[in-house]
Amino acid sequence: MAPPTILWFRRDLRLADQAALVAAAASGPVIPVYILDDETPRHRAMGGASRWWLHHSLARLDESLRARGSRLILRRGKCEDELAKIAGESGAGAVHCLRHYEPWWRNAERAVAKRLDLICHDGNYLAPPGSVKTGSGGLYKIYTPFWRALRDHMPPPVPVDAPEGLDAPDRWPASDRLDDWKLLPSRPNWATGFEGEWTPGETGAQVRLGAFAEIAARYDEQRNLPAIEGSSRLSPHLHFGEISPAAIWHAVADAGGSVDVFLAEIGWRDYAQTVILQYPDYGGRSAREAFDTALPWRSGKEADADFAAWQQGRTGYPIVDAGMRQLWATGWMHNRVRMIAASFLIKHLLIDWRRGEQWFWDTLVDADYASNAVNWQWVAGSGVDSNMFPRIMAPLTQSEKFDAAAYIRQWVPELADIGEPAIHDPDEFGRRPRSYPPKIIGHREARARALAAYDVMKADD
Ligand code: FAD
Repeated sequence: MAPPTILWFRRDLRLADQAALVAAAASGPVIPVYILDDETPRHRAMGGASRWWLHHSLARLDESLRARGSRLILRRGKCEDELAKIAGESGAGAVHCLRHYEPWWRNAERAVAKRLDLICHDGNYLAPPGSVKTGSGGLYKIYTPFWRALRDHMPPPVPVDAPEGLDAPDRWPASDRLDDWKLLPSRPNWATGFEGEWTPGETGAQVRLGAFAEIAARYDEQRNLPAIEGSSRLSPHLHFGEISPAAIWHAVADAGGSVDVFLAEIGWRDYAQTVILQYPDYGGRSAREAFDTALPWRSGKEADADFAAWQQGRTGYPIVDAGMRQLWATGWMHNRVRMIAASFLIKHLLIDWRRGEQWFWDTLVDADYASNAVNWQWVAGSGVDSNMFPRIMAPLTQSEKFDAAAYIRQWVPELADIGEPAIHDPDEFGRRPRSYPPKIIGHREARARALAAYDVMKADD
């Protein structure tokens, strides 16, 4: 019998369209492995909401493997150590995996490759990050030309079905018990609201895709309206690799209508990886250095209290508060509202974007190093693309424009009885109930403060 091959899962928790699985299975028995390796200094530890998702996703993956005569081996520790131990115990000859681009995963891949025969495959992006090049052979920094060039590589390869069965090794290596990892919150269990909202795992991803395929053609009309379910909500499934972007592409590409606008959003995900490939510390460092060294961000007790009000959804700006409460309750926030809430923190409260990035990292079920950092830096204007800092979003105008009344009523029940237009700005209309806080700062005052801070940075530049 051929020696077994290790299949190393990370953010690719699926059996369909899984190039590493196809390659591992072709050579004989397969040992599927997941290693919880986020406690070493090289790693950015996963946030709480991600851990909740991971628990359920691993449980579903194990079930799918068992239905095919296999199982998932769980280990905790440094990837290179655990994989070497498993190879030693089982006589496995090679390790197959999909490539990942977070700086800690690239380091882990290098460390594993020093000790074992590691074979990396592509398949978590529309095109392998780094493969879409400018005319002069470099990597793109700006989204629009990147997307234009990526489109020339499309469509992605046709997805491959999950195998019907997998050969098992003679003897399974030891495995941890998933429950012992304590990935789920307890005392308090703050994730009760996640359960009705999400079905982690490959089947859950397929159900979401099926539901979205029916409305994909109307995406452009509806995606900016937080009160309706107009976007796919596939982001956590994509982040954990429970579905491949190629599978999504092929499922919706012929939907007509504005489906191209949707595919361009999937392209943002590829773009974000291209950025972190060039700037691995993008999640913690502004590409425009002056934002870290010369912009007078607020800090101290008052700023901390404002930050807490933002986290808790008590800023007195209903659209911001609705978004922050949706995030806490469900682990997800509508994209338009993410932009408004992020802009509010950075510009109205003048608090360093990195604090917001960290909060999203901890609370989003789709928390993704590249997408989170790229979007935060984009809103701040501190990134590699255009500097948006002086363009200060007016949250109350945005709330009206994108018809957020029903969304606010859902997430800020103190305002449920207020009609339009007062619900967008209850303070201004004298309709603020006592249970709801006054605006933490007026829009004009906040705008002037942010622009003055910007001028300080410019003067220093
Ligand atoms: P859809 O509109 O249905 O889009 C389909 C898919 O395209 C998404 O699932 C996602 O994978 C991708 N996508 C869409 N918009 C973007 C974008 N702007 N950047 C990168 N990928 C995109 N997205 C994350 O996946 N993880 C994050 O940590 C994250 N942090 C964000 C932080 C801020 C401040 C902002 C403004 C946006 C952030 N986004 C992040 C992007 C976007 O908000 C979410 O991807 C989107 O809301 C997910 O909902 P959906 O699946 O219904 O998206």
